[in-house]
Amino acid sequence: MRQEITDELRETDQTSIDLVLKKIAERAAITEHHPDGPVEEFKWLRECGALSIVLPGRSLDFNLPKTPELLRLLKAVGKANLSVGRIFEGHVNTLYLIHLYAEEEQRQKWYKEVEERGYLFGVWNTQAADGISFLADGSDFIIKGSKTFCSGAAIVNRALISGDIDRNGEKGWQLLIINMEDLPQGRIDRKSWKPLGMKASGSYKVDFSGYRITEKDLLARPGTYLTQPYFNAGAIRFAAVHLGGAEAIAEHTLSYLKELRRTEDPFQQMRIYNIMSELTTGQLWLNRTGKYYDKWVAAESQDQALIAFSNMTRTVIEEICLKIMDESNRCVGARGLMEPFALERLHRDLTFYLRQPAPDATRLKAAEFFIQNDFTFDDDI
Ligand SMILES: Cc1cc2nc3c(=O)[nH]c(=O)nc-3n(C[C@H](O)[C@H](O)[C@H](O)COP(=O)(O)OP(=O)(O)OC[C@H]3O[C@@H](n4cnc5c(N)ncnc54)[C@H](O)[C@@H]3O)c2cc1C
Repeated sequence: MRQEITDELRETDQTSIDLVLKKIAERAAITEHHPDGPVEEFKWLRECGALSIVLPGRSLDFNLPKTPELLRLLKAVGKANLSVGRIFEGHVNTLYLIHLYAEEEQRQKWYKEVEERGYLFGVWNTQAADGISFLADGSDFIIKGSKTFCSGAAIVNRALISGDIDRNGEKGWQLLIINMEDLPQGRIDRKSWKPLGMKASGSYKVDFSGYRITEKDLLARPGTYLTQPYFNAGAIRFAAVHLGGAEAIAEHTLSYLKELRRTEDPFQQMRIYNIMSELTTGQLWLNRTGKYYDKWVAAESQDQALIAFSNMTRTVIEEICLKIMDESNRCVGARGLMEPFALERLHRDLTFYLRQPAPDATRLKAAEFFIQNDFTFDDDI
């Protein structure tokens, strides 16, 4: 019975999500300049069930080995609009951290907020020199400091933030969940986001100073956030969104060439070949790493391999995206990189969103794994 419900849901989810993603893609040029950001987009994603799709009993329930399918969904959202993909990935990431680390009562409460009220969650870990610190006030804490790169700051209902805490002598990087309704709107610095691309992600700086948190807002113990393999392996989710951006560029490049009747040219054909083969390679990496993720998390004995493969997935997909953008640039030339063609925005968005932390160290870490371990490839997967 449970299986039947899941299958039924999967079909309904897929059709309605596809329709919503089509609408999101069509509106992306308007949304980039809309002062409120992607409010409509998240209303549609909420209505089609995408915001609750990873909750228990839903088609991509975190308790099921569904990582390849989740990566495909993230890629599809990124393809429709990279900024929406970024915020959606943050929502999924937060729910995953809740799935992994929350106490049962907290989990029920936060899941219910998504299921019944359609709340949007976000993870904001990045900070500058004025980052988060905590002042103990009895059993509560008062926050001091800010987070930067807070994607969806103006539309997220619950924000998972982090900072160094000393909690009854236990020190470490603490996760906590903020009710954004309780934070004055003026704390979101809307002038802080002037990026090359990804404008619609509204990744503003947010000042949390003075916000009071109690025990029930704290997620897990100090230091839990850095638990491996989950901390590093999470990179496969944003890599999936990145590849979605590259897929959109590939499609728009091909349709531009068709529109201008330039597909007979062998140089253009060669570039199209390069674009499509790179894209396929990216998809194969995502599929395989998704399967490894499910298999190795369950096995609990392949953490280092999972981290290495996640790091490689992220960096291989970064290279793929850069190559696809380069080929697309040459295919369409200056005229194709101007409005009203979508490639103008798509190139800016992907160029900027590809910049993720410590790309060089990530490559070295993967190399270290193969140097230090006798790894045999599992071709059964
Ligand atoms: C669109 C967008 C949305 C985002 N949204 C969120 C969000 O919602 N929540 C969140 O927490 N974060 C978010 N981030 C932030 C993100 O997680 C990274 O922190 C950010 O992208 C860092 O990028 P960077 O290029 O400045 O990284 P860096 O790590 O500074 O890398 C830049 C370059 O410096 C090199 N480098 C790094 N360290 C050193 C060193 N010690 N010495 C010498 N060279 C070094 C790197 O190899 C690289 O070449 C977002 C980022 C983007 C682009």
